[in-house]
Amino acid sequence: MFNAIILTAYPEMFPGNLSYSLIGKALKEQKFNLETIDLRNFGVDQRNSIDDEPFGGGPGMILRPDVVEKAVLSIKIDPQKNTERIYLTPAGKLANQAKLGNFSKLDNLIILCGRFEGVDQRAIDVLNFEEISIGDYVLAGGEIAAQVLLEGCIRLIPGVLGQPESLLEESFSNNLLEYPQYTRPKVWEDTKKVLHEVPEVLISGNHEKIKEWRYKESIKKTKVKRPDLYIKKEQDK
Ligand code: SAM
Repeated sequence: MFNAIILTAYPEMFPGNLSYSLIGKALKEQKFNLETIDLRNFGVDQRNSIDDEPFGGGPGMILRPDVVEKAVLSIKIDPQKNTERIYLTPAGKLANQAKLGNFSKLDNLIILCGRFEGVDQRAIDVLNFEEISIGDYVLAGGEIAAQVLLEGCIRLIPGVLGQPESLLEESFSNNLLEYPQYTRPKVWEDTKKVLHEVPEVLISGNHEKIKEWRYKESIKKTKVKRPDLYIKKEQDK
């Protein structure tokens, strides 16, 4: 079973978003396990500090390497199991759907959440944390980033989604964005009294034609919105 172990100074922020909807149901049904480890249990000195000022000066505080190491060593897992350690940081490699797919197949994913200005680089290097970013922007801490990453991973675990076939054609499978989707009403009159119809083919009942239309729309959308992805698709042919 997929086991997420979160190293954080704010364990009360979990399961947070992960307790809702399909992911929350999967958590309740023990389709995955979530564990938090409070970094403050491994603080040093009389003040139980987990961070200190950066050497060389500069603003903010940095998580101490000795605190991170003690927290990591407190984790009791079978060494035979498939385990990876990641540190969430805006300076990491950008996460993508393929990466999340790989994480979702692990037995244990250990996630270090930074706060303040980040984590002492020695802890990251010595303890073999892979540095992962969830996007080119800076959050105040890694906890929301961990929930984003885990939500993406957990929905890929077999049995979590009610309709697993939705994974086959969604955005980023085959390096394409998903085709546009429509629902009722068939003709929608907006508040300015303008009528908007659903593309005719979708109500034709012709499954072959619908499939063809969706594929073409996926290509069109990807070319316009994510030309980088489209180039990748062409290269992977
Ligand atoms: N000083 C760091 C830098 O410039 O790269 C930013 C530190 S940020 C204010 C505090 C923490 O938030 C980080 O240690 C990291 O755990 C988390 N964080 C912020 N943005 C993130 C992102 N885009 N992806 C993953 N984690 C992020």
